[in-house]
Parts: sequence; C-alpha cells; structure tokens
Amino acid sequence: MTELRSEKSIIDQAEENLLHVYNRYQAVLDHGEGVYLYDVNGKKYLDFYAGIAVSALGYHYPGFDEAVKAQVDKLLHTSNYYYNEPAAEAAEKICKVSGMTRVFFTNSGTEAVEGAIKIARRYGFNKDGQHDHEIIAMRHSFHGRSMGALSVTGNDHYQEPFLPMIGNIRFADFNDLDSVKALVNDRTVAIIMESFQGEGGIYPATKEFAQGVRKLCDDNDLLLILDEIQCGMGRTGTMFYYQQLGIQPDVVTIAKALGCGLPVGAFAVSDRAATLVPGDHGTTYGGNPLVCAAACKVFDIFEQDHILENVNEVGAYLYDRLEEVAARHKDVVIDHRGKGLMQGIELNVSAGAAVAKALDHGLILISAGANIIRFIPPLVIKKEHVDEMIPILDQILTEIK
Ligand SMILES: *Cc1c(COP(=O)(O)O)cnc(C)c1O
Repeated sequence: MTELRSEKSIIDQAEENLLHVYNRYQAVLDHGEGVYLYDVNGKKYLDFYAGIAVSALGYHYPGFDEAVKAQVDKLLHTSNYYYNEPAAEAAEKICKVSGMTRVFFTNSGTEAVEGAIKIARRYGFNKDGQHDHEIIAMRHSFHGRSMGALSVTGNDHYQEPFLPMIGNIRFADFNDLDSVKALVNDRTVAIIMESFQGEGGIYPATKEFAQGVRKLCDDNDLLLILDEIQCGMGRTGTMFYYQQLGIQPDVVTIAKALGCGLPVGAFAVSDRAATLVPGDHGTTYGGNPLVCAAACKVFDIFEQDHILENVNEVGAYLYDRLEEVAARHKDVVIDHRGKGLMQGIELNVSAGAAVAKALDHGLILISAGANIIRFIPPLVIKKEHVDEMIPILDQILTEIK
C-alpha cells in the first residue's frame, strides 16, 4: 500500500538530508500536465519557468514520453567505448540546426562549458606549445558552478569562497566592444560569452557588439565560444540566438532544453575548433542512449509541430502584454526587455518576494539577479496562458508596492 505523505514530512526529510545550498520555495511538486504543475496537495500552478528553461515541451507532450519509454525498454547506457544510434542521430541533428560540424555530449551545462574551455586551451597549445594563454569572459555572465565554468562566470560573490579560480581569465563588459578589445593581446586564445545573458538579468547581445566580437576573433585568430545553454534551443524564436545576431561561433554550448528534462548537454564545434583528440576528454554517462533518444525526439517535435513559430507568435504577444503591465505599474517596474519566450521585468523592489507571492497565487516564476522577474515558460505556451498569467502578475505587483 502506498502511504500518502504530507507536504511537511517531505520538506522536513529534504531539509534534514539534502545539503543546504538552496533556499527552496515551500512547495513539493508532484506532477505536471501541459504547462501546469501540481504539488502534493493537488494545488495547480501555471508554469512560467519551465524548471529554469528546461521543460520546453511542458509536461507529457504527445509522443515525447513514449519515445523515452521505448528507449528505457531497449538500452539505457553503453559508455562511449561503443557506438549507439541515438547519440549518432542526435549529434547529426545538432550539427544541422547549429551549423557546427562536431558534437561532444555532456551531462549538464557546466560540463559543456568545461569542454569549451579545454577546446580553447588546446587551441592555444596547438599553436605554440605554451601554457600562458588567456580567455576573455564577460562580467555578470553565468556559465555554471564547476571550477572551470565558475572561473569564466563574472560574479565575485559566486567565486570568492572558492578562490583561486583557474588562471588567465580576463573580464570585459558585455555589450561594450572597446572593453573587450582592450584585453586582447598575443596570449589571448578565446572569448566566451552568452549570446543573451540569462542569470545576469535578461540582456541580449546587441548585433553590433556580437558582430564586433566575431570580427575581433577573426582578426586575432581567437575562438568565439557562445554559451546558448539558456537562450538556445528555440527560446528566442530561432534555434540559436546567434542566428539572429548574424554570426556563427566556433564553439557553442547547449543544455537545458536539449533533453526537455532528461539531463543532457553538449558542446558543438566548427572544424577549426575541433582541437581535442583521443585521450584529451571523456565522460562515462555523456551521450548515453536514453538522453540522446530524448534529444532526438525534441528535435523531431520542434520541426513537426513548428515550435519556433509558436515561440515567435506567443513571444510577441507576451512582449506586448508585459509592456502594458510595465505601463500600469510604473511605480515598481523600471524596465521590460527580452525576446521570444525569454523576457524579464526589472523592479525597484526584490524580485524574490514577488516570485514567492506568485506561488501563493498559483503561478511559478523565477527571478534573475536581485530584482528582475524572468519569464521563461515552456515553449508550447499559448496566448491564453499569457492571458491567465497577466492578471496574477498585476495583482502581485500591486501587493508588493
Ligand atoms: C544554466 C546555465 C549553465 C549551467 O548549466 P547546468 O546544467 O546548471 O550546469 C551555463 N550557462 C548558462 C547560460 C546557463 O543558463
């Protein structure tokens, strides 16, 4: 007999046994359907965060679970010493949509960034056999929590307790080309940045900046590494945001929505950046048949069901509705920005309090930085869901004044 657990007993058990690195919201999520989540008490929530931009297809999207279950019944894991069909298929699909030529699968975003850093260091080492190469990263960026990814994350607060970082990382200001140019010297091998900063506060790169950085890389034989872990996989209305910026990177990192809930990331490289050779890099789980079957199905659904069209249509609608919200609440909303289904409103009060209030009203949001509310819903959200969200947002913005 299955025992019905109370919410409190689950929260207590989690707080007693999990390492306390999150201040969690007081809800135990139990199941999902469409773009709604349900907690253990049966309370329904409209999902505007998609498990941090992961659940692009929402919950139980037709055909997705079946594809994953079919792979569970066949084979979960092989290690990378053998071939498996889902990984071969998924890699080809990534190459096709990204314009890159080779893929390495990882288990997370941070590992994809680690791989990209190794690609860059290897690129420099291949050139001159030296060990003093520099990588330029951006302030207010986010690339992950492992030591390498953290080293290129421009956030002193995240880095400080864990110093020293890996060496030879220089920080420039995002969307300020001169600040990047000023750091380039004959030791520089790569520039890493998000095409569209997510955690840092919903800041897309400007076309002028992105194209300037691309040219800087071309002129100085540097690799351009674009982190599209959050903004990629269709979130801004094209498969990758760099496609709107009119540039092609040498390395792109992908994760979050790639497996729509199955843990899979990747970095993809151009021929020029395919610097790693046998023995240089590896992973036990990365690219296993289960997660790659999920990724394959995600790409198939995106194509068959025109997910990008939906992002463009509903994203534009969300933009207009949030402009109205910003106009109605000029006293708390100081800015609204973003693109597609990656938008944010900046408040002059704490966003954390607003997010907590939204939860009470059955809406799941997420903050970015201290005072920005981020809207990163499943990419299958419809206008009617935006219409359902807006009055709740109006109410919480009125309440937090
Ligand atoms: C989430 C994120 C990461 C880290 O991904 P994990 O899967 O949490 O390791 C890296 N870069 C960006 C831009 C992200 O949004």
